[in-house]
Amino acid sequence: MPFDPRSPSPVERLQQELPALDPAGRLALLRRSVEGPIVFTTSLGLEDQAIAHLIFTAGLAIEVATLDTGRLFPETYALWAETEARYGRRIRAFYPRQEAVEALVADQGIDGFYHAIEARKACCHVRKVEPLGRALKGASAWVTGLRAEQSAHRGGLELATWDQGHGLIKVSPLFDWSREAVAAFVEREGVPVNPLHARGFPSIGCAPCTRAVAPGEPERAGRWWWESEGRDGAGSECGLHLTPDGRLVRAARGAPR
Ligand code: SF4
Repeated sequence: MPFDPRSPSPVERLQQELPALDPAGRLALLRRSVEGPIVFTTSLGLEDQAIAHLIFTAGLAIEVATLDTGRLFPETYALWAETEARYGRRIRAFYPRQEAVEALVADQGIDGFYHAIEARKACCHVRKVEPLGRALKGASAWVTGLRAEQSAHRGGLELATWDQGHGLIKVSPLFDWSREAVAAFVEREGVPVNPLHARGFPSIGCAPCTRAVAPGEPERAGRWWWESEGRDGAGSECGLHLTPDGRLVRAARGAPR
C-alpha cells in the first residue's frame, strides 16, 4: 500500500525493510513504496553506474539525472554517451545558471577555486548545489550512490534517511557495500565504467578538482586535495550532501511533522 512520503513512517519502514534486501530489491521496494517522482542523481562514478544499471535493466520508473558542471573529464562525457547508448535511456542533464557562472568567473577567475575555500564552495554551489535543487524539485525520494565507508565525513549516513534540506526520502542502496563488492558487481554485469578508475581515480568529480590517489590513500583523498592535505587527507565534500549550515545530513529517524 503506497504511503505518504511526508509522514515519518515511510522512512522508518524503509529503514526496517531495506537492509535485508540486495540493491535491486531495495530500489524496487522504494519504487513500490513511494508515490510521486523518484530521482537518482549520478556522477557516472563506479557506484552510480551500478545503480543506473539496476534501474535501467529493471525498467524502474526512476529518473536518472546528472549535474553537468561544465568542468567534467572528457572520459566522463564519453561514458555518459556510452551509457545512454548501452541502455537506450536518456540521462537528464541539469546545468548551472548561465548568469551565475558568468558572475562567478568574473569575480574569482576561471580557476578561482584553488585560491580560497570560500571560492571553491561558491563554485560548487553555482555548478552543483543549485542545479541539484532543481533536479530534486517535486521529487518524493532521492537515490544516491553514497557508501558509508567512502569517507570519514560520511559516518552518519544511513541506508534511508529523511533529507530535511530537500524535504524528501533519501536512499543510498549501496551504503553498506564495500568498493570491492561494487567493482565485482560491475565486472560481473559488464557495466560500462569510467576508464579513469583504472588510472588511480576511485572518486571522480570535476577535472580540475580531482587527482589520482596513491595506493593506500583514502578513496576521496583526490577530491579538492589541496584542501584536505594537512587535515585528515580524507577529501572534502562538495556540499551536495550537507545541510545548509554545513553539517552532514545525519540520519533522521523520522520526518518532521
Ligand atoms: Fe567548481 Fe571544482 Fe566544485 Fe567542480 S568540484 S563545481 S570545478 S569547485
